[in-house]
Amino acid sequence: MPIWKNWAGNQKSSPSVVERPSSESEVIAVVRRAVNSKQRVKVVGSGHSFTGIAVPDEIMIDLSKLNRIVDVDRARGLVTVQAGIVLSDLNAHLEAQSLSMPNLGDVTYQTLAGAVSTSTHGTGLQRTGLAAQIDSLRLITATGETLVCSTEQNQDVFHCGRVSLGALGVITEVTLRVVPAFNLRAVEQPMRIDYVLDNFSRLIEENDFFEFYWVPHTKWALTKANNVTLDPVDSPGRFRTWYNKMFLENYAFGVLCRIGRLFPQLIPRLATILPSTGRNEYVNISHRIFSSKRLVKFYEMEYSIALDSLAPALREVMKMVDDRGFRVSFPVEVRCTDGDDIPFSTSTGRRSAYIAVHMFKGSKYSEYFAAVEAILRKYEGRPHWGKIHNLDASDISSLYPEYQRFIEVRNQLDPEGVFTNDYLRRVLGR
Ligand SMILES: Cc1cc2nc3c(=O)[nH]c(=O)nc-3n(C[C@H](O)[C@H](O)[C@H](O)COP(=O)(O)OP(=O)(O)OC[C@H]3O[C@@H](n4cnc5c(N)ncnc54)[C@H](O)[C@@H]3O)c2cc1C
Repeated sequence: MPIWKNWAGNQKSSPSVVERPSSESEVIAVVRRAVNSKQRVKVVGSGHSFTGIAVPDEIMIDLSKLNRIVDVDRARGLVTVQAGIVLSDLNAHLEAQSLSMPNLGDVTYQTLAGAVSTSTHGTGLQRTGLAAQIDSLRLITATGETLVCSTEQNQDVFHCGRVSLGALGVITEVTLRVVPAFNLRAVEQPMRIDYVLDNFSRLIEENDFFEFYWVPHTKWALTKANNVTLDPVDSPGRFRTWYNKMFLENYAFGVLCRIGRLFPQLIPRLATILPSTGRNEYVNISHRIFSSKRLVKFYEMEYSIALDSLAPALREVMKMVDDRGFRVSFPVEVRCTDGDDIPFSTSTGRRSAYIAVHMFKGSKYSEYFAAVEAILRKYEGRPHWGKIHNLDASDISSLYPEYQRFIEVRNQLDPEGVFTNDYLRRVLGR
């Protein structure tokens, strides 16, 4: 029986030991014991990666006891937290202090360290992924040494360590740049996919946070435009919130996916139901708009491409789905962010668009994902580190201008591969 498995259930493992340290000194002791006994160590977060990036094969560290707020510096807009904190708990703490993360992905089940380590992002052209919000971090290296890393101290480790793939050591604490709490007005509505693609540049410039889902087998996209507002929260009422967020997005959608898995030939007809949900508009505190509950399980692949390539790339994907006759019940998600300077951020050095494809858990996904991957690779696509892909070190090294810099930092910090696993061997070469 595996002791550990990820959220999607496609990664499983039986580590020899599970350690649950409750202080940094206990983390150091675990790492030193591992090194002395020549065993490998892997920290797992919430297991929300679809790839094997978090798979522990010898010693597994669960940091769920390192989940406290350490310091709030309002004047400088900095919040220091222990690395194992789950994003939903962090949001609740920030809300209580009238503070907020500037941006989030679409769920908050992940740990903070787990999310930043794979370059987790949301949408919004004026915002970056979560890792670029890091001001400093504390890292336990393979020698059991503690490094404080920022733009002033251990600069090279900081530069690379914000998106570390778990390969540089154990992050125990993170200081984040936060902003005063803000509300968002959300407008959700179906639009013709051709209209969205023809007007994509304008839609992402005009809205603070814009994303859309193309519904395969239809000419429709479900769009979400979220804008910062001074208007008060106008919670649409518990029933309507439950109906939209839980009933439609989870229970009813889950039933459609089940029917589609049993009778794939019905998927194109079932798909036409999705754009009929109509228009929704409401105001809420930002983190409640950014993220939703996800009860329907799926497999996912996501690639980041240069922003300007979005329309031609997505049009190729749409044509391929029709030509190849794939039956796809999950909408294809499209988001965008500003670029940043983190070597292994999927948006390093370029404003980025992201195309994410999903398949309902238990359905065959490999052929569909490989066909999408072949298209996105032509656009110099970079795969999300935590989402299914087939690339290895030789592919990855050509996609990241600072690949070698990361490798050098890793060689210094972990020459023996204490923190490696099969996935890291594949994408980093050892
Ligand atoms: C339903 C769902 C929705 C998602 N939505 C989004 C989204 O909107 N945007 C997006 O970009 N991604 C999204 N993801 C992907 C997800 O954000 C990433 O895979 C993220 O890394 C998961 O965080 P985790 O805490 O589960 O970490 P894990 O998957 O458990 O671990 C990820 C990596 O972090 C490392 N790690 C964890 N803690 C530490 C630590 N303290 N020190 C060093 N390394 C550490 C692990 O070793 C591993 O390498 C989604 C995934 C799911 C399942």
